[in-house]
Amino acid sequence: MADKWIYAFGAGKTEGNASMREQLGGKGANLAEMVSLEIPVPPGFTLTTGCCVDYLGSNEFPAGVWEGVLGQMERLEKAMGAKFGGDENPLLVSVRSGARDSMPGMMDTVLNLGLNDVTVAALERKSGNRRFAFDSYRRFINMFGNVVLEMEHSDFEPLIEAMKNNRGVSSDVELSADDLAELTKQYDALVKEKTGSAFPQDPVEQLRLAIEAVFKSWNNERAVAYRRLYSIPRTWGTAVNVQCMVYGNMGEDCVTGVAFSRDPSTGEKALYGEILFNAQGEDVVAGIRTPEPISVLKERMPECFARFEEISARLDVHYNDMQDMEFTIQNGRLFMLQTRNGKRTARAAVRIAVELVAEGRIDRETAVTRVDADSLDQLLHPAIDMDGGVDVIATGLAASPGAAVGKVVFTAAEAVAQVKAAEAAAEAAAEAEDDEAAAEARDDGAVILVRLETSPEDIMGMNVAQGILTARGGLTSHAAVVARQMGKCCVAGCSALNVQAGEKTIETNGHLIKEGDWISLNGNSGDVILGQANLKQPEVAGDFSTLMEWADDIRTLGVRANADTVADSEAALKYGCEGIGLCRTEHMFFEEDRIGHVRAMILAETEAGRREALSHLLPFQRGDFIGLFEVMGERPVTIRLLDPPLHEFLPKTLHDMEQVASLLGVSVEGVRHATEIHKEQNPMLGHRGCRLVVTYPEICEMQARAITEAACEMKKRGVSAFPEIMVPLTAGEAEWEFNRNIVAETAKKVMAEQGVEIRYLVGTMIEIPRACLRAGQIAETAEFFSFGTNDLTQMTYGLSRDDAGQFLPEYLEKNLILRDPFVAVDREGVGEMVEIGIERGRSVRPNIEVGICGEHGGEPTSVEFCHLVKMDYVSCAPPRGPVARLAAAQATIAHGAYKTAEIH
Ligand code: PEP
Ligand code: MG
Repeated sequence: MADKWIYAFGAGKTEGNASMREQLGGKGANLAEMVSLEIPVPPGFTLTTGCCVDYLGSNEFPAGVWEGVLGQMERLEKAMGAKFGGDENPLLVSVRSGARDSMPGMMDTVLNLGLNDVTVAALERKSGNRRFAFDSYRRFINMFGNVVLEMEHSDFEPLIEAMKNNRGVSSDVELSADDLAELTKQYDALVKEKTGSAFPQDPVEQLRLAIEAVFKSWNNERAVAYRRLYSIPRTWGTAVNVQCMVYGNMGEDCVTGVAFSRDPSTGEKALYGEILFNAQGEDVVAGIRTPEPISVLKERMPECFARFEEISARLDVHYNDMQDMEFTIQNGRLFMLQTRNGKRTARAAVRIAVELVAEGRIDRETAVTRVDADSLDQLLHPAIDMDGGVDVIATGLAASPGAAVGKVVFTAAEAVAQVKAAEAAAEAAAEAEDDEAAAEARDDGAVILVRLETSPEDIMGMNVAQGILTARGGLTSHAAVVARQMGKCCVAGCSALNVQAGEKTIETNGHLIKEGDWISLNGNSGDVILGQANLKQPEVAGDFSTLMEWADDIRTLGVRANADTVADSEAALKYGCEGIGLCRTEHMFFEEDRIGHVRAMILAETEAGRREALSHLLPFQRGDFIGLFEVMGERPVTIRLLDPPLHEFLPKTLHDMEQVASLLGVSVEGVRHATEIHKEQNPMLGHRGCRLVVTYPEICEMQARAITEAACEMKKRGVSAFPEIMVPLTAGEAEWEFNRNIVAETAKKVMAEQGVEIRYLVGTMIEIPRACLRAGQIAETAEFFSFGTNDLTQMTYGLSRDDAGQFLPEYLEKNLILRDPFVAVDREGVGEMVEIGIERGRSVRPNIEVGICGEHGGEPTSVEFCHLVKMDYVSCAPPRGPVARLAAAQATIAHGAYKTAEIH
């Protein structure tokens, strides 16, 4: 059977339903579903996403599609008793995009299609409303010009602005019918001037061009940028919905509106939305006029409000989720134009999921799948501390919660440029070890994007900004919708701001703010604050902690934290981590009271000299470990022995060398000589990790002693601390055995000295491909493996961790990779290495404990991978703990539970 490219909905023939979003896109599938639920929807038809993909491949409609479109138009003509292009009762349609996952505002839409110089007159006669007819026509020329004829929206803007100025009015609703008729003439002339051809008058031609343009908008710049941000495959394509027009701009008993069945910012169960009287939909989403709250509808059109409220509640129940709806009221009659599961903040997502369980509508497992694990990050960011005596200079709409502190910029391009420059400067400063310059550069990278209103083009600027502030637009404006989805703080519709983007200033309530000035935004209250406000730390409480408890009950995979200090360990527990999966001991060596001893050890020429220096480090290390054990109690604490190459501890500049020489009482020449000896061409592949121990066994001895002594001390205090002593950078069994023996013998000796037996494991990181291949031999004696996927990615891919950032973005842009392999585990390559390692390790020691401690341990798709290969735990930065816990629960729901190793 040939592919079916077109699906009808409404007017007695509905072929799709909600389950068909892959073919029909979210909008098309839900329009069909609403028709089946007998909700009033203007009739129309959907061209499938497959049709779009086919079209984009060949630049032609698949065979039969155009005939199918014309057939559908005849069907609509019959149903409406109207004629497309007719000079009595003209049929007008909208042509709207609709992808599988909603991509708000990213692709194109054309409304009022079918108007021309003849039909506009017919529309005027039929409606008896000349103003409405020409309002629709000027909108159509503008939108068609923009979407199809590739003109800029801003090309048209000066004409309508001039018209408003001429007439001395501030809003387009105040323009008269004649003004709008005059405007359409001016628009026509502009089209001719810019494109070299007259505006197309043939409605059939308009329709064909519009469908093609909406298909092509799948590949416009902002859609591509959005897909990259949200990892949406290019191969999906967008559906196109052609639907009979209903009009929100026919007069004062007409409304266009956007509403949510629950509050998308907080999750509160209350109808939440915005409307504009006498307007069309794009006015609301584009933030051109600041709309009124939906409660105004209740006052002015109570029957319509009640009808809408009933439909909203019905859809919320039908989909068992918060709905984001678009509607139009034409002369007092309500029509639904869209419903979809609404985008929401993490805070709202959590509350809605927990409340739907309380309402008995979904079960706990479903609730756990309803929250995007990555988005929890938003809940773990600090909020503005309003008690700190802040200077509120204006208040707008609290469009997306959170806090933002940054310097004002006025364009998206400036935001991107400034953040890029700041990153480069911070990197250079870090390399030169200039902390002050690095901090300054980081400050420069904190920007707040201030716009009169945002348009979809601003997406990349919004992405890099700390927060977004707009003077116009409501809670459902593009800025608000996108900010909420990004989890970015946004204050919208702050009308007290006089934004002069050209002059790069904002004036408000007697304050003048210039580009580069600091402001702060409180996304929870809508307050705009002068200067840099103080922040307060988040808590895991209320609905958030309830959802986390459910996730913990479900998940198989353990979650530990990468933590090196007492503060990190306390944060780890606060975020629900069950132990430490990686303590990088080198971080303990840099503190002021230790670094001198470390350098003395490196500079010592004899083993005795090194041992002497190490003896000074021992008590510090023991104290460090006791600190960790005190917080973690009997939970596992994986302590990695020294990993970096020694040159990292040595001074770089002559000035620093002189200082070190005088502090240690050695010659500058001696220090310089040491830096020469330890210099490496490729430090990542050099003398580091367990290789250092082969040369300097006494370093390993000192660390193993400090760990064991600390655990013995805890045992004497009645706490059975549980260190897992971890050897870094193992490549094979011989060097592993060499390291392990030192650890095991030292531990044995210390326990004998102390007269105490402790629980402990000795194991290794697996972060070199060769170690994956030799995992079977290593597992003969290794009691655990921890996959260091940072190095394993670097070494499997042959991609330097430090340099890849400079060119990997190009791979993403050119679609050569879908995700950065340092962010999400590359399952095909690095993942297979991990699988080989686990399989060979477990074939020798079935109960070997297996974890991951690379940065991937806190990234949801990587957590899913770890579940699939049946690891025992993931380890991640403490604030990523809730993300990993939720992702692990979601993986269990998707793929089933398994039994993990029993740790001794
Ligand atoms: C790793 O390589 O994944 C790892 C955790 O070690 P580090 O990042 O310290 O090299
Ligand atoms: Mg490593």
